[in-house]
Amino acid sequence: MEPIERTNYVGTTQDSLHMLPAAVNIVCPFCKRNVHFPFTWKVNFNTVSNYTVSSCPGCKGKVRFVYFGDMDEPKKLENGQLFSIPGATARIPIKGMNQNDSLPESLKRAYTSAINVYNTGEWSATATLCRKVLEGIAHTLVPDSKPNENLANRLRALPDKVDFNKPIMTIADAIRKGGNLGAHFDLEREPDQEVTTLMIDLLDYLIEYLFVLPSRIELLHDKIEHLKNSGKE
Ligand SMILES: [Zn+2]
Repeated sequence: MEPIERTNYVGTTQDSLHMLPAAVNIVCPFCKRNVHFPFTWKVNFNTVSNYTVSSCPGCKGKVRFVYFGDMDEPKKLENGQLFSIPGATARIPIKGMNQNDSLPESLKRAYTSAINVYNTGEWSATATLCRKVLEGIAHTLVPDSKPNENLANRLRALPDKVDFNKPIMTIADAIRKGGNLGAHFDLEREPDQEVTTLMIDLLDYLIEYLFVLPSRIELLHDKIEHLKNSGKE
C-alpha cells in the first residue's frame, strides 16, 4: 500500500456530503508506465473510507485504491489520503532534500529530474541523468575545477578538497555523546524524542554507509562489468 500525492489526482466526484478524486495519473505498479486510472467508486460514499478497483489501460493490471477522507469535513479533498495496492513503488526524492540549503537548487532539480525519468521507466535517460547529477555534485564540491576538466579527473581530485572522514566521525561522535546523556543520570540534560529520533536516523546512515553501501557498490560494479562483457555497453 502506497500513499498517492495529491498532485496526481485528476478531477473530482462528489455527492452532497463527500468529495473524492475521480482519477489519478500514476506509475502503474505492474508495467511501470505513467498511466491514467479512472475511478468508479461504490455508490453511497462512506465517510470513513471508500474503495475501488481500476485497471491499467496499458497492461490491464488491476490496482485497488482506498481513499480515507476527512471524517469531520469529508468534502475537504486536501485533508484526505488516497492509497494504492499494490504500491506504485515510485522513487521519491531523499527526505528533507527540499529544505536543505547546502544543496544548490540546480542540483536539486537535476536529481529530481533523474527520479522523475526513472519513474517513467526510461532507463537510458535515467543513467545519463545520474551522470549529470554526479557532475553537479563534483562541481558543487570542487567549484574551482577547470570547466573542461573531465569528470574522472574531477572525481579523483575530490579527496583533496573534501574531508570524507569528517561526516562519519561527526555522526559517530554525536551518537556517542547522545548515548552518554542517556546512560548518566542528569535531570537537566535528558534526551527527548527529537534527539533520539535524530540518533536513530544517524545510526541508520552509519550502518548503511559502513555495511550496506559497500555491498551495493560492489553489486553495481559487477552489473556494469557484466553489461560490458556481454557487449551491451
Ligand atoms: Zn500497467
